[in-house]
Amino acid sequence: MAQALSRKIDRCRLCGGQHLETILDLGSQPPANSLRSSLSETVPTVPLVLCRCDACGVVQLTETIQPEFLFSQYVWVTGTSKGAQAYSQRFRDEMLKRVGGKAGFAVEVASNDGTFLRAFKESGVKVLGVDPAQNIAAKATADGIETVAEFFGIDAARKVSAKHGKAQVVFARNVLPHVPDPRDVIAGMSECLADDGVGAIEFHRADTIVRELHYDSIYHEHFFYYALRDVEGMLNQTGLTAFDVMPSPISGGSWVVYFARTKRPATAALAAARANEITLGLDKAEGWRAFATKCMAHRDAFTKMLREGRAMSKRILGYGASARSSTLLNYCGIGPKDLDGVADKSDYKHDKFTAGTDLPIIAPEKAFKTPPDRVVLLAWNFTDEILDDMETRFGWKGPVLLPLPGDPKWIRES
Ligand SMILES: [Zn+2]
Repeated sequence: MAQALSRKIDRCRLCGGQHLETILDLGSQPPANSLRSSLSETVPTVPLVLCRCDACGVVQLTETIQPEFLFSQYVWVTGTSKGAQAYSQRFRDEMLKRVGGKAGFAVEVASNDGTFLRAFKESGVKVLGVDPAQNIAAKATADGIETVAEFFGIDAARKVSAKHGKAQVVFARNVLPHVPDPRDVIAGMSECLADDGVGAIEFHRADTIVRELHYDSIYHEHFFYYALRDVEGMLNQTGLTAFDVMPSPISGGSWVVYFARTKRPATAALAAARANEITLGLDKAEGWRAFATKCMAHRDAFTKMLREGRAMSKRILGYGASARSSTLLNYCGIGPKDLDGVADKSDYKHDKFTAGTDLPIIAPEKAFKTPPDRVVLLAWNFTDEILDDMETRFGWKGPVLLPLPGDPKWIRES
């Protein structure tokens, strides 16, 4: 039942402000990962609505979905993504550079399968992961990355620092948007961090979401859509200070924000990032209202282009049955009349149906046995990887519709 699955907030999750302005209504959608094995199974839907707190300016969802529900569905394993390994080494190098080249101990919040900590371990750093998923934590530990199976917050942090001491490196990647109480996570990071240490928080950056219209990144698991100013605000409230940022390729555009207990001068990169947000109007409701208007126009343009492509094709496939594509398909009303199915590499999704849009999810090797005339690249944030895969594995080089970033466009049309 939808009522049991989620709860509508009546005040801002962060500051308690009671005036929440609706920014963008994406309709009532099933939780993105509720794939069905049969079309006769029913799926609950929950309103997917973005709102903005008048008092603190933080943009968030109006509904809080029960964490137990999301948790039981949680299957993403970091190491399975091709680019993750290479990025984990770069992430480590950038982090160590900011602690003077070496660290004794590193803690990762929501460390998943330990891919990122492994890079630190290879550099001789003692590592510890904290992750709520029992099965993933057990596997990471068995593979040599000690991982405590727990939700991270101030309580877990006190136990970690009592047992292991303070860490020179503490980081949380793509965690803050998912937790209903991010301040507890930051307080925990502060607790674990040595006085001379450096913390890092990585998150999908709002300026890119707004500029490139990443409305497909809005789904029930993401409670918050942070601008840098929001994360800096929370750090400051905890007595921490941001001093640097690094752009990251994750999610089609993220920030890694570096912070410390002691005040350090802001780098030129951080100053420029702050100024950019002001230019985009992210500190005001207007910037977000303009985003919403553009998303609605994008939906119309994208569905028109897709239907034109459909009319010219005998067989047209989607590629990528991700949480992001679920939002895109549901919001744009795309279903079996528009696509013959969605190819996806994840075994556990095969022979299931997309949530709310009833498209069969097919293993790529099966999907390309009958070559499609066209492909709609729903997982557009992995465009290079997927184009390469379709060409090298299936010899397929046909026209591809890229829904995002920015305006939708067909590529490789002869
Ligand atoms: Zn607020």
